[in-house]
Amino acid sequence: MTTVDLPLLPLGRGTDPDTERGVECPGDLPPASDPSLVERARAAKEKLGERVFVLGHHYQRDEVIQFADVTGDSFKLAKDAAARPDAEYIVFCGVHFMAESADILTTDAQQVVLPDLAAGCSMADMAALSQVEAAWDALSAAGVAEHVVPVTYMNSSADIKAFCGRNGGVVCTSSNAETALRWAFDQKDDAKVLFLPDQHLGRNTAVLQLGYSLDECVVWNPHRPNGGLTQEQIDGARMILWQGHCSVHGRFSEDVLDELRAKDPDLKVIVHPECKHEVVTRADMVGSTEFIIKVIEDAEPGTHWAIGTELNLVKRLADSRPDLSISFLDRNVCYCSTMNRIDLPHLVWALESLVDGVVVNRIEVDDRTEAEAKVALDRMLALPGTGAVRG
Ligand code: SF4
Repeated sequence: MTTVDLPLLPLGRGTDPDTERGVECPGDLPPASDPSLVERARAAKEKLGERVFVLGHHYQRDEVIQFADVTGDSFKLAKDAAARPDAEYIVFCGVHFMAESADILTTDAQQVVLPDLAAGCSMADMAALSQVEAAWDALSAAGVAEHVVPVTYMNSSADIKAFCGRNGGVVCTSSNAETALRWAFDQKDDAKVLFLPDQHLGRNTAVLQLGYSLDECVVWNPHRPNGGLTQEQIDGARMILWQGHCSVHGRFSEDVLDELRAKDPDLKVIVHPECKHEVVTRADMVGSTEFIIKVIEDAEPGTHWAIGTELNLVKRLADSRPDLSISFLDRNVCYCSTMNRIDLPHLVWALESLVDGVVVNRIEVDDRTEAEAKVALDRMLALPGTGAVRG
C-alpha cells in the first residue's frame, strides 16, 4: 500500500491544490483598522439586495455573524442556501468543505463565495482522496472491501463524499450519525463501516448509540502500511475509524471536566460528539451544535453549565443567557483558527467585489465530483428524519 506524506502548510502560505490547505488571498484587503468596515459591509450588502445570501456558521466571529442572513451548522446552512435559488451569490462565512457542499446542493446558476480561501478545516484535510483510495486497495487486498460501507462525516472534502457515493456509501452529520450507521450496517452481510474522517464521532456513535464495543472499533492510520492494523484486527472490526479528529473539539479533556465538576457539584456538562470518548462518556449530554444551542436556550434559569464546543459559540450562548452560569470546558482560549480566517476585511472585500461585478474566491466543485457526492448526500437525505433539500 502507498502512503502519502502531508506536511502542514502554514496558513496563507503555499498551496496544495489536492487538499483544502490554505492559499493566499488574491485581492487587496481593506485594513482591519479601517473604522468604516461595518458601514462598508452594510452598504455593499444593501446594494446587492436579494442577489446575495450570506450564510454564517455558528463558529464565526461576532464581527462577521452580524451580517449573516441565516446562521446554523454546516448541513443546515447548505439546506438554507438550497432553499434560496433566487440568490445569485451565496457568501459562505464558514470553511471550505461547507462552501463545497453549498455548491453541490445549489443550482448551477448560483455562485458560492468563500471570503478567505485559507479557511480550510484541519479535520477535512486529514483524509485526502489518495490516502482513502490507498486504504480501500489495502482493504481489498485484506479480502474485506466487499463487506465495507464507507460513511463520511459532512466535515470532509467533496471528493471524499464522491468516493462514498461511488462505493455505496453515505454522508452523515453529527445529528444523524446513528441513523446513517444503522443504514450502512444494513447494506451488506457482515458489514463493516469505514468511517471518515472523524474517529471520535464514529467511535462515540458506534459504542454509545449502536452498542458496539471499543474493541470492535479499530483506527486506520493512513501513514502506516495496512493502516497499522493486523489481519486479525481488520477481520474482527465492525468500525474502521479513520485517524482524523477536530483540532478544536479534540482539545477538551477528561481532567478539566473532572476538575470543574469537583469545584461545582451542580455543574451540567454538554459536549459535541467530536470530543474524545473519555470526555463524552463523562458528560451529562452530548449532541450537535444545534442540539447544544437548543439545550442552553431551554435551560432552567440559575443552572450551571460547562460547554465543550467552539469558543465563539460558547461566548454567544453565555451572552444570550446571563441568568445561567456558563463556562468553557478548556483551560485555554480555543477558537477554530480556520473559521476565524473569515474576518470583516475579507467579508467587505468579497461583498464589494460582487458589487463591482467581480466574483472572488468562487468555490466550484467539478461536475463528476458533484454528481458522485450528490449520490452520497441524497442517500443521507433519504434517511428517516433528515429532511429534503431543494436545488
Ligand atoms: S471546528 Fe473542527 S471540524 Fe469545525 S472547521 Fe474547525 S477544525 Fe474543522
